[in-house]
Amino acid sequence: MPIDASPHARTDPLAATLATIVGARHVLAEPDLVAPYAVDWTNRWTGRPRLVVRPGSTDEVAAVVAACAQAGAAMVPQGGNTGLVGGAVPRRDEVVISLRRLDRIEPVDQDAAQLVAGAGATLADAQRHARALGLDVPIDFAARDGATIGGIVATNAGGERVLRYGTTRAHVAGLEVVLADGSVVRRMSGLAKDSAGFDIASLLVGSEGTLGIVTAVRLGLVPHLTERAAALLAVDDTRTAVGVVAEVRRRRDDLEAAELFHAEGLDLVCGTLGLARPFQRDHPTYLLVECAGRVDPTEGLAAVLADIDGIAEAAVAADGPRRAALWRYREAHSEAINTAGVPVKLDVAVPVRDLARFEDDVRGVVDATAPGARLVIFGHLAEGNLHVNLLGAADRAEVVTDAVLELVAAFGGSIGAEHGVGQAKVRWLPLTRTREELAAMNAVKRALDPRWLLNPGVVLPIPQGAPES
Ligand SMILES: Cc1cc2nc3c(=O)[nH]c(=O)nc-3n(C[C@H](O)[C@H](O)[C@H](O)COP(=O)(O)OP(=O)(O)OC[C@H]3O[C@@H](n4cnc5c(N)ncnc54)[C@H](O)[C@@H]3O)c2cc1C
Repeated sequence: MPIDASPHARTDPLAATLATIVGARHVLAEPDLVAPYAVDWTNRWTGRPRLVVRPGSTDEVAAVVAACAQAGAAMVPQGGNTGLVGGAVPRRDEVVISLRRLDRIEPVDQDAAQLVAGAGATLADAQRHARALGLDVPIDFAARDGATIGGIVATNAGGERVLRYGTTRAHVAGLEVVLADGSVVRRMSGLAKDSAGFDIASLLVGSEGTLGIVTAVRLGLVPHLTERAAALLAVDDTRTAVGVVAEVRRRRDDLEAAELFHAEGLDLVCGTLGLARPFQRDHPTYLLVECAGRVDPTEGLAAVLADIDGIAEAAVAADGPRRAALWRYREAHSEAINTAGVPVKLDVAVPVRDLARFEDDVRGVVDATAPGARLVIFGHLAEGNLHVNLLGAADRAEVVTDAVLELVAAFGGSIGAEHGVGQAKVRWLPLTRTREELAAMNAVKRALDPRWLLNPGVVLPIPQGAPES
């Protein structure tokens, strides 16, 4: 579907100003050209941009932001547009600032085990860069070929290795950011110790483009562990899966991933993508674990698994292609769900000890509020992080979201575990953040972006009386 930019785009004086900064071919206004920037990955969130602008350097980003601020134009920063909460697409005539051209990766700083990447470099490119030198980016997930380093920082992305390494926040060693007035803040020394003053970089991590535009990132790296073994395990239920992971963790110090999915997700993945089923028998629940180290973990992992009760069937894979085939069952979930329709997506976390009980309750709540909807639950087990996906529930999105997120709050959980708040969850943030926390967040926003020009309506609601862009 072609999406027009603002009807005035072709005569917009801002377009001419931006063209003098980035060159006319990097200011987009034609429907076919702006369309990919105006629709999110799930096809659920669509908006009309005033313009799309593609700066090619930090200086250009700074000049673009200053020009937009001068014109009172609201801005939406966009990286790979793989976000799942509608945070990177325009909502009401904003200028989309695409960071993808800032894709330079500097030579790895091997002494500090750090890498400096432009905001538009993809996660996969950064991984390749680090791996060539025996190091690795400690973050990984299925959207690695599209998600950008800037987007990953802006969303504090999680993924499949949080169990071992933590979220993106733990690895940001430096940041370069353009603030709402076009000024540039650079903290790129990569010092491990620096407690002299507020840490602006930490504040920007997870701010989803509402406090500043990330232009470059200094990322901490970890050793590239090439000896790996993955195991796909069939179990009866989530309760058993939680117990299996606890036991593997207790007995091995090299567990890197523990991913959960169920029969409904496997059916969808195999049906949609034509994959062969992993086992001859079907099972209710599946767990994918991966160990990694400097010594081949295959035998040790297999021995531990053989000793744990509750595993109905197991497939262990050591070589790359067989491991990738097992991972495909889990990583293809989002793609298969998207192929089947436009989903309502909820990304929540509860304490791991409550995960199974919470999941039972979610199924009940969905049955009650969206009967007949197709429910696909999967996620990162070790962090109690479930992706609750509903197909065929678009007309009941509000009511079902309300019910599931109320339940999350009752469990003391998070309504946005790793995807963020975006525009999708703004209404529900007060469920898990106190009035005092929200007041502090609003105060930070007002201090850094008093005219509410950066990604308005994302994370926090636009306050009444905020200047209209
Ligand atoms: C198949 C699939 C699997 C996924 N798996 C995971 C997963 O396991 N874990 C996880 O955490 N996420 C996952 N995601 C979500 C998504 O990939 C991440 O949120 C990712 O970090 C987004 O990066 P991006 O470059 O695409 O950002 P975008 O989608 O372009 O933007 C996301 C948000 O960040 C802001 N932003 C982007 N770039 C900048 C910048 N340079 N400066 C300031 N703000 C910016 C945007 O305004 C927006 O609010 C998955 C997505 C898909 C499609």
